[in-house]
Amino acid sequence: MDQNQNIPTPASPDGRGDHQGKDVRRGRNDIIFISALLLILAIIGLGFFLFRKEGSSVTVEVGGQVYGEYSLSRDTVVDIATGDGELNRLVIRDGKAFVETATCPDGICVGHRPISRMGESIVCLPHQIVITVTDGVDEGPDIVV
Ligand SMILES: [Zn+2]
Repeated sequence: MDQNQNIPTPASPDGRGDHQGKDVRRGRNDIIFISALLLILAIIGLGFFLFRKEGSSVTVEVGGQVYGEYSLSRDTVVDIATGDGELNRLVIRDGKAFVETATCPDGICVGHRPISRMGESIVCLPHQIVITVTDGVDEGPDIVV
């Protein structure tokens, strides 16, 4: 009985070992595959982030109404008057837009870093101002003849 049980024993771990080996190898391949996939996704994501299309203009909205659209290729200063003497000074310089000064109490819009990429925006909640980078259609500043 004991011997009978012992005889198949060497074969059993062998087979199991083989099976386990395959599983381990497959698992490792999966990890390599997933890692590669994640790496590729990370590179694509990074590429999107780094090479996200530079916008060509900014659209200013006040209270949901379009206040004006300004090209990023032309340095300019826009005083956005929202009534009651409230003012946000939008400055466009070197292809970037930022709020230089504002009369809003929180000053968050002034503290916002300059925006220049598509979809980026500066919001002034107290004044209901939204400044968004867009690819303006009429100016076409990217085309240099
Ligand atoms: Zn503000």
